[in-house]
Amino acid sequence: MPTPHNAFWFRRDLRLDDNAGLYHALTSDFPVVPVFIFDQHILDELPEKDARVEFIHQTLEGIQNQLGSLGSTLIVRYGKPEEIWPELIAQFDLKAVYTNHDYEPYASQRDEKIREMLAEKGVHFETHRDQVLFEKQEILTNGGKPYSVFTPYSKKWKSELSGGKLKSYDNESNFGRFFQHEVREIPTLKSMGFAATDISFPSADPDEEIIRHYGEKRDFPGIRGTSRMGVHLRFGTISIRKLARIANQLSETYLNELIWREFYMQILWNFPHVVDGPFRNEYAAIKWRNDEKEFEKWKQGQTGYPIVDAAMREIAETGYMHNRARMVVASFLTKHLLINWQWGETYFAEKLLDYELASNNGGWQWAAGCGTDAAPYFRIFNPESQMKKFDPELKYVRKWVPEYGTPAYPRPIVQHKMARERCLEAYKVALGKND
Ligand code: FAD
Repeated sequence: MPTPHNAFWFRRDLRLDDNAGLYHALTSDFPVVPVFIFDQHILDELPEKDARVEFIHQTLEGIQNQLGSLGSTLIVRYGKPEEIWPELIAQFDLKAVYTNHDYEPYASQRDEKIREMLAEKGVHFETHRDQVLFEKQEILTNGGKPYSVFTPYSKKWKSELSGGKLKSYDNESNFGRFFQHEVREIPTLKSMGFAATDISFPSADPDEEIIRHYGEKRDFPGIRGTSRMGVHLRFGTISIRKLARIANQLSETYLNELIWREFYMQILWNFPHVVDGPFRNEYAAIKWRNDEKEFEKWKQGQTGYPIVDAAMREIAETGYMHNRARMVVASFLTKHLLINWQWGETYFAEKLLDYELASNNGGWQWAAGCGTDAAPYFRIFNPESQMKKFDPELKYVRKWVPEYGTPAYPRPIVQHKMARERCLEAYKVALGKND
């Protein structure tokens, strides 16, 4: 008879410390087999050079080293979860699978299928809240409805925050509960059809000095004033409880950004129609110009607007773009070029290391004016004044657009004044405004 085991399934919670689902697995009745599945359903959609796959791969190697020193091993498989789990159940005589909640549409459907499949085999499936402090419908209006405006949501969120919410799970004391096994190999990137990129990844250790001065420095793309925690929150290489504890002590402005993240996650959960269209339906009537040549110039950083071009070159080369710049380029695409925000959303989804469906969708809808907390549609960023205000010494522009100010730099693909009027007109027509 094989020995019974339980499994812990890593997904976007790639760490051994302060991991809720892993804690519950380690304190359960049987030794724990840690599992990661490179999900073919997701990977098949990605290009050969995808820095996120590389990031996950590197992170798994780190976890493998940690587990190796505990006499255990991560079991890493490549394939379809619904086919892999039956094999693992048989191999390890699994009695339960523990994991953490994953809220995106694909993930929740996948988990439902796996839950049913495991139930048929008599295997218990248990998931926990881990990637957020408040999830789904935990922060509701007094009338029991989900919020669609940030400020009242954030007030309620803060009023519900208690020390207990921020407390870490003590996984370390239970590390002896990992099953004991010689170290297994992790499939190589190449064997899964991927290749390494030139992109470098920010450290997973939050820089407390940056967080302390976040309020003053976060808006200037030419300086290192933001935490670069996005990718780590995305893949769970940092615990939200740990980061929120630091934020709570050092910077309310920073804590607010973490609340924006949860705000958009609950929007995605409660208003899933945002995945396919505007939060406010009336904006679906906008007649976008959708000029493909202009879209290409935007992607290549050849619009003739230096702050837009700097940002577009930054994302293409590093997989990152500063938040101020994200707002400027998104506004430029949707308002100046009148290109559907969903084109921009898809491009960011391909490029961003910290890509998060909820925040990306929320950010794009905000910029296009069709989202939950949208700026009024007639407020259109002037890229020239944004540059003067947020990159006054042109540090950002000079870094990414060295030919700026020389004849090699392109002329603007569109005049600001004309574009502004054209946009106002298109929005007015769509929204039926006659003033
Ligand atoms: P910091 O400024 O140091 O903030 C800390 C953390 O707070 C971030 O890592 C992030 O998790 C969260 N956060 C900060 N600002 C926001 C915000 N406005 N909305 C939601 N969460 C926020 N963020 C993503 O994580 N993934 C995306 O795919 C994404 N796409 C965006 C698209 C557009 C058009 C816009 C305008 C914003 C987008 N954002 C996205 C939000 C924000 O730009 C990034 O979170 C931030 O720039 C990441 O850099 P950082 O880690 O240094 O963040």
